[in-house]
Amino acid sequence: MQDAARFVSKHGVPDSLDGLVVLPGVGRKIANCVLVYAFNKHAIPVDVHVHRVANRLGLVCTRAPEATERELSHSIPRKWWRHVNELFVQHGQNICGARPKCGECVLADLCAYYAAHPVPVKARKRVHTSTALSRLNAGEI
Ligand code: SF4
Repeated sequence: MQDAARFVSKHGVPDSLDGLVVLPGVGRKIANCVLVYAFNKHAIPVDVHVHRVANRLGLVCTRAPEATERELSHSIPRKWWRHVNELFVQHGQNICGARPKCGECVLADLCAYYAAHPVPVKARKRVHTSTALSRLNAGEI
């Protein structure tokens, strides 16, 4: 890590994936986070939440985060890449964790996992899919 710190103090933080992943201790997830959150560039950082939610929704069918990143980058328009990490991490932390709260999930109508494992829905918190998409577009969720 000292090598990375020395490089950055001398040359600055690289603003490309290739430039970042050659730094000691920097993998694709960290590199993509730097691109999104430091440079506002199009990238999809994939952590455990992004990997889990993407697979449960059926957006990808992968075993490794690298494959999830690759498949998401093919299926999601580039203009949305920057938002994937924050949205999926929030959803993973609050709803779709190790024990998914499908009965409270606004995405259940769209979800492959839910289709295979339906549970009773909590009517009070249930939001119709079209409403959920409207809220997504409005940046409310
Ligand atoms: S319906 Fe369940 S599995 Fe699907 S995204 Fe929502 S919480 Fe996750």
